[in-house]
Amino acid sequence: MAQKFRALLDLCKRRGFLFQSAEIHGGLRGAYDYGPLGVELKKNISQSWWRRNVYFRDNVVGIDTSIVTPHNVLKASGHVDEFTDALVDCLLTKERFRPDKAPEIEFKQDKGVSSGKIVIRSPDKETAKVWEKQIQTELAPGALITRQAKELLLHVKHLKSSSYGGPAGSIELETISGESLSVPYHGYVEPSTNSPFLTDERPFNLMFKTFLDPIDPIDRVIKTTIDTKTSDLKVVREQVDNILRPSTVYLRPETAQGVFINFNQIMRTMKTKLPFGIAQVGKSFRNEIRLEHAIFRTPEFEQLELEFFTSPWESPAWFDYWRKDRLAWWLEHANNKADFRTRDHEQNEMAHYAKGCMDVEYQYPWGWGEVEGVANRGCFDLTQHMNATGENFEVLEDSPKASSLLKDTTLVNDIPSEPTRFVPTVIESSCGLNRALLAYLCDAFHQVQEPGKEPRTVLKLHPRFAPVKCAVMPLTGSTDFKPYVEKVARSLRRQGLYTVIESQKLRIGKRYYRHDEIGTPFCITIDHQTLQDQTVTIRDRDTTEQHRININDVTSIVNNKIWA
Ligand code: ATP
Repeated sequence: MAQKFRALLDLCKRRGFLFQSAEIHGGLRGAYDYGPLGVELKKNISQSWWRRNVYFRDNVVGIDTSIVTPHNVLKASGHVDEFTDALVDCLLTKERFRPDKAPEIEFKQDKGVSSGKIVIRSPDKETAKVWEKQIQTELAPGALITRQAKELLLHVKHLKSSSYGGPAGSIELETISGESLSVPYHGYVEPSTNSPFLTDERPFNLMFKTFLDPIDPIDRVIKTTIDTKTSDLKVVREQVDNILRPSTVYLRPETAQGVFINFNQIMRTMKTKLPFGIAQVGKSFRNEIRLEHAIFRTPEFEQLELEFFTSPWESPAWFDYWRKDRLAWWLEHANNKADFRTRDHEQNEMAHYAKGCMDVEYQYPWGWGEVEGVANRGCFDLTQHMNATGENFEVLEDSPKASSLLKDTTLVNDIPSEPTRFVPTVIESSCGLNRALLAYLCDAFHQVQEPGKEPRTVLKLHPRFAPVKCAVMPLTGSTDFKPYVEKVARSLRRQGLYTVIESQKLRIGKRYYRHDEIGTPFCITIDHQTLQDQTVTIRDRDTTEQHRININDVTSIVNNKIWA
């Protein structure tokens, strides 16, 4: 599994889907750039989502709101105070972890205190390798480290434990090669029971904070701390916060809040009536404690979000509708449908205001991972912004009834019998575009081994998602083929289908394989017969079958196959 995933990432790099960002400057962990094929794949997934959720419906409209978000918006939404994860620091691996993901570290003293062993267990072999390098270069350059698959053994010669057992202090280690090092630790430790190398848990806000300020905020902070007469950190922190507050802004951690604060603008300008939805596609940012699995968890990512506003009595029925509709979209584009599933949240997993929550999950090579959340958020979000601003988001239903758009009304609650004013309930569907791209790449990645042939890769992406839709190829380099090649390519391009002309000097079979590898669903070949009867061959990536068709039918046949 891990080998297959590495082969996929290798293909992504080799063929221009995904690059490590700033690679020539040493790279930045968790930051990726999408190459020419990656950008097409991402755009196609996003457009498919938009088409299904906006263009195919009468009651959903789009919006594109600012990424830079004022403090007040995210204070009202609860993100400033609540959008936190618990965090521990590991002094050995120099990494930060969620407590449940922290490495297991055992601290073993041999009899007497002249030598010892630190055992570090990692979740997988790859992580063990990274930690080994980290410890070797940063923490214990001379230490003897042995690695047994997922277990690192750091052998030390001397454990000078004079401050050992106190509330905080340091452990002096002398490594096998004679280097002397000091590892700070916090809290009381008992040998072999708990680890002196992990700090206490602390809450950590996931938002990226920055400042809209022509004066460098660091200068303001320095001035405040110099001017202040107290050494009480809490007091200084408060003063610094007060000074920075007016210029504090955040990179939004989700696109949803931009939708909620524009609720009245949309109602006013688009004359929308409940039930209706507002869709937004855009970047969100989270200072994640742990970045993992290539683009699965990154600090910068894209979301496809739909906020669907309903009356409270219809909300259970719409929640049910969106759960089914969103899963259907995932399955429609998948090869292995069994690799997608839904998972309902337990009550204790949900935010206090949520009335239901479901994740769509994909079975990635390392296990099931969330790709989308669908939640009934009640009227929490609109109410919070109403309370903070005085803007009124209530709507009036003169004669409450169940919407005719609902095919199944069994889940509709009691409908009030008189005119009713209420804050709408929101059903949210929040899909991660980058995770979708990774899931569909994993789903598409097929390694083919035919007898007597080199193993090769076929990327069985849904034709709507495939970056290149058609490759048009002359059979040979003869100039006779050129006008036909150009004619076919032009007609496909006019239909908005990304088409490349593949006239490299490679054998035609090799050219087909190169396109199989990037998922091109159709190869159109101009050959000698084309000159006679105006027909071309169309080759199907998945079956490798070829059919002769009239040159004038190429675009309609390709379009039909893509939209079938
Ligand atoms: P997780 O539990 O994996 O951290 P989450 O429950 O915090 O995810 P949501 O807040 O529900 O995620 O965000 C909606 C979607 O946005 C997720 O289903 C996921 O697809 C995507 N997403 C969230 N955080 C990230 C991230 N750091 N990198 C990439 N995609 C993300």
